[in-house]
Amino acid sequence: MPDSTTMTQTKPAVLILLGPPGAGKGTQARMLEETFGLVQLSTGDLLRAAVSQGTEAGLAAKAVMEEGGLVSDEIVLAILQDRMAEPDVAKGVILDGFPRTAGQAAALDGLLEENGQSVTAAISLEVDDEAMIARVAGRYTCAKCGEGYHDEFKQPEVAGVCDKCGGTEFKRRADDNAETARARLEAYHAQTAPLIAHYKALGVLEEIDAMGSIDEIASGLGSIVKRVSA
Ligand code: ADP
Repeated sequence: MPDSTTMTQTKPAVLILLGPPGAGKGTQARMLEETFGLVQLSTGDLLRAAVSQGTEAGLAAKAVMEEGGLVSDEIVLAILQDRMAEPDVAKGVILDGFPRTAGQAAALDGLLEENGQSVTAAISLEVDDEAMIARVAGRYTCAKCGEGYHDEFKQPEVAGVCDKCGGTEFKRRADDNAETARARLEAYHAQTAPLIAHYKALGVLEEIDAMGSIDEIASGLGSIVKRVSA
């Protein structure tokens, strides 16, 4: 029996996926969720849910999202804090699409510090800008389970049937078109890319080439997650 006084309590991992729209953050976060039992936390998904439910935050966010701009830190932090208060986050989280501004990064550091935690790793998915526009403009998801697909790069094995859940309805996001993708890419470079230096200074930055296949990237990411959570 280990002596309880010398046993270390493992803290839940806090992983951040950084990268422009189309870099594959959502796809990879879902794979990490399955492999490592972590919880994917996507502010984009939370905001889209707020928009479709017509909540006050959703109403305020809708137009900005459709233009490809960033929703205010105030709104994003409020929905994130609500989600972080749910019990499943104790399994460890993969933050997908958050933080996206210096203010959000500082708020996250503060929130974690209150619980004696800190960011385990911020993983930057390195990609080529022009390829991102092509990826974003062709992508869609299963309406039932949310599995991601792409007109060119990842079609379901049986046309019209989701590989994962057998669903036959698919949907496309209103902001997944070439024009809005450009605006989102600009917002990424202006406001989010500077966070790479923030996490580098904290000593938690990891970088990965994300121009390969989905499986190649997943395997690289898996190695990083194993190493940082060991
Ligand atoms: P992507 O990473 O492909 O752009 P997301 O689903 O993460 O897609 O985000 C979609 C939109 O939701 C963004 O363009 C932005 O308007 C809004 N959004 C999501 N997360 C944030 C955030 N952390 N801060 C501000 N706006 C956000």
